[in-house]
Amino acid sequence: MSGYRKIAVAVDLSNESNIIIRRAMDVASDGSEVHLVYVQEPMDSVYMGVVPYGPVFVGMDEVEENLKKELEGKLKVLGEEFGVPEAQRHFLNGVPAREIHRFTEEADIDLVVLGTHGQKGVQLLLGSTANSVLHGCCCDVLAVRILEEAD
Ligand code: AMP
Repeated sequence: MSGYRKIAVAVDLSNESNIIIRRAMDVASDGSEVHLVYVQEPMDSVYMGVVPYGPVFVGMDEVEENLKKELEGKLKVLGEEFGVPEAQRHFLNGVPAREIHRFTEEADIDLVVLGTHGQKGVQLLLGSTANSVLHGCCCDVLAVRILEEAD
């Protein structure tokens, strides 16, 4: 019996998501409620400073909308595969770590499960999603070590 009532699994919808959800299911008990959380980062914030503002952003809304539909489809497939009801699948928008913190507090989550590649060097200095969630969360965090093959 894990004792966790509400578990949030942060998924980036890559192949490693299955490994992370499986691990969350391992620690869940019969009474646990498992939520899947994906955060789509707005494209203008992703490319800000990398691509100069101007014509390149024309048509970006449509690209973003198409991407959203595709990602929503992926979240649905994952939810169905692991038996997570639709009401417990959350497609959010914003900066991943910030939205995960907000969701965790608002939904009264007591365990967040996410993946980690064991960042080194400059990635560690810049901070990864896993690092940011770990250091800002007010509940327990389970970081599932992802081995290279799953990348
Ligand atoms: P990263 O720090 O980007 O290597 O990601 C580490 C982990 O954070 C991933 O394995 C996911 O569990 C979680 N994560 C990263 N990006 C997102 C996202 N956009 N939405 C939800 N969870 C995410």
